[in-house]
Amino acid sequence: AAPSAGDDAPASAALLARARAVTPGGVNSPVRAFRSVGGTPRFMARGSGPLLTDADGREYVDLVGSWGPMILGHAHPAVLEAVHDAASRGTSFGTPSENEVALAEEIVRRVPPVDQVRLVSSGTEATMSAIRLARGFTGRSLVVKFAGHYHGHVDSLLVAAGSGVATLALPDSAGVPSEMAAETLVLPYNDVAALEQAFAERGEQVACVITEAAAGNMGAVPPAPGFTEALRRVTAEHGALLVSDEVMTGFRCSRAGWWGYEDVDVRPDLLTFGKVMGGGFPAAAFGGRADVMALLAPDGPVYQAGTLSGNPVATAAGLATLQHCDEAVYARLAEVAGTLGGAVSEALSSAGVAHRVQSASSMFSVFFREGEVRDYDDARDQDTAAFARFFHAMLDAGVYLPPSAYECWFVSAAHDDAAVERILAALPAAAAAAAG
Ligand code: PMP
Repeated sequence: AAPSAGDDAPASAALLARARAVTPGGVNSPVRAFRSVGGTPRFMARGSGPLLTDADGREYVDLVGSWGPMILGHAHPAVLEAVHDAASRGTSFGTPSENEVALAEEIVRRVPPVDQVRLVSSGTEATMSAIRLARGFTGRSLVVKFAGHYHGHVDSLLVAAGSGVATLALPDSAGVPSEMAAETLVLPYNDVAALEQAFAERGEQVACVITEAAAGNMGAVPPAPGFTEALRRVTAEHGALLVSDEVMTGFRCSRAGWWGYEDVDVRPDLLTFGKVMGGGFPAAAFGGRADVMALLAPDGPVYQAGTLSGNPVATAAGLATLQHCDEAVYARLAEVAGTLGGAVSEALSSAGVAHRVQSASSMFSVFFREGEVRDYDDARDQDTAAFARFFHAMLDAGVYLPPSAYECWFVSAAHDDAAVERILAALPAAAAAAAG
């Protein structure tokens, strides 16, 4: 049964009550609210390595990692040092500063399709700006996205979106003008025939296709073999840009991202980044072809700006994080993800629970259903009540999973053998709980 509010978390429950008085739902981002799993969202007080400690002093092995950024674990010493050092010299100048250049250089070095990059403060801003740029470059307005892909809360992209929108089962968002939604064409993911048909009908109106490089916001659903190539071929044939959203996958799936991990020879025109590249601070980016980026203000007519863009503290944290993301880090992420994915599957099989573990490099998720998940319809066809029971049993055992059946589990290089052991030890009871 779903726990009642306050179960085992009196300090979090008290904070939630305070929060609800002054903040809608008591949270600043909906999926934090535990609405689909029930119970009291844990207010975290500190993080260290692979661990989080909540307001009641309970410790958890963290498999959310702030939804992706904490690839080195919490409070990594080198990141903290870079942050202290930067902050001691001033926290925002509203002028260019050297950290921004160094971070942009690091991104350009890691991701060959990126000639130039512009820094922003959130993934939402990155995708919003990339779309404006694609529209400015092509002189067209239609945007193609895929059902179940989430690109932030950009008006025109809050159509058939994943992540919190999937969790709350909102088909759409109120407040998005229908004219805006009409400029977005939603297609099923991994369906080349649907893509070709849409472009045959409206190809000359399409400014860009935006796609999660590998979908992570409906659980892990990588592109099917040939799909990424088809995106490139079809967009190029019709003069539309290909925007690859690497906000979640960037610098996590490989030293570049999903680009550089998937073994295909495809160069997107624009890419968007966030999460890892901010090292736990608000920093994100979009970048790509020099001739497209040249249209941005101040050189070109496409306006884009930000008071805190390229913030010296955020860029210092991001740069320190990327500088520590070496091959050893990627090897450890792969090892931990492989071990956990295998162990979850084994535990659920032993308990007789229908499930499917899927991965996109070291991002992985567990669908409480049988059979491959290729698109949003598949992803939604799962036993979310079983997930909720599993989630709470893991939480009780001190493992913090994403509080939604539609999210990836994020491991970090700080997940040492002791942290992995704690997760493994929790699995049999959680699998039994999922069995009901
Ligand atoms: N794109 C993708 C693929 C994402 O996963 C997210 C966030 N989960 C975003 C964009 C939006 O980023 P932000 O929350 O920083 O606005």
